[in-house]
Amino acid sequence: MACDDEAETVQCGSVYTSLCYGYADVEQLGRSGWTLLHAITANYPERPSPTHQTETKQFISLFGKLYPCWVCADDFKAWMKDGNEPRVSNREEFGRWACEAHNAVNVKLGKESFDCNKWQERWRTGWKDGSCDG
Ligand SMILES: Cc1cc2nc3c(=O)[nH]c(=O)nc-3n(C[C@H](O)[C@H](O)[C@H](O)COP(=O)(O)OP(=O)(O)OC[C@H]3O[C@@H](n4cnc5c(N)ncnc54)[C@H](O)[C@@H]3O)c2cc1C
Repeated sequence: MACDDEAETVQCGSVYTSLCYGYADVEQLGRSGWTLLHAITANYPERPSPTHQTETKQFISLFGKLYPCWVCADDFKAWMKDGNEPRVSNREEFGRWACEAHNAVNVKLGKESFDCNKWQERWRTGWKDGSCDG
């Protein structure tokens, strides 16, 4: 099959991408998706303007609508509706919210929960014990 052949698009779980460059399955998509979300929170302002907060909520809503693993997206949207609307008033709040969102999926998948007190060390400042140095 040629690389521009539409027939090379495959379904893996509920994720469709091209085989030409190595397709993304639910796990690869998930790691990339979380990296994007946590990186956005790590770069979020400490004092976001009202417009910035509104746009961030819109982004999260659209992320939940367009995330191309539909089962994941449905559960993510249901979790948000269940008293977990995005908290975007400042970086710390938003980062913790994303950490809690990620933990909800960790629990669902039987994985260990992450300590949300350490979200900034993981995604922003580096570990306090210096384990990433050198
Ligand atoms: C919105 C969303 C919904 C998803 N829903 C599903 C689903 O319904 N079913 C499914 O099979 N997969 C789902 N996934 C994918 C799933 O969460 C994982 O990304 C995937 O299983 C790969 O897991 P992993 O163990 O490699 O690491 P990931 O869970 O992808 O984590 C990547 C890294 O993030 C760090 N981390 C872990 N937990 C946290 C946390 N709470 N806060 C901050 N950092 C953390 C760790 O250092 C970890 O190595 C979803 C992904 C997203 C983005």
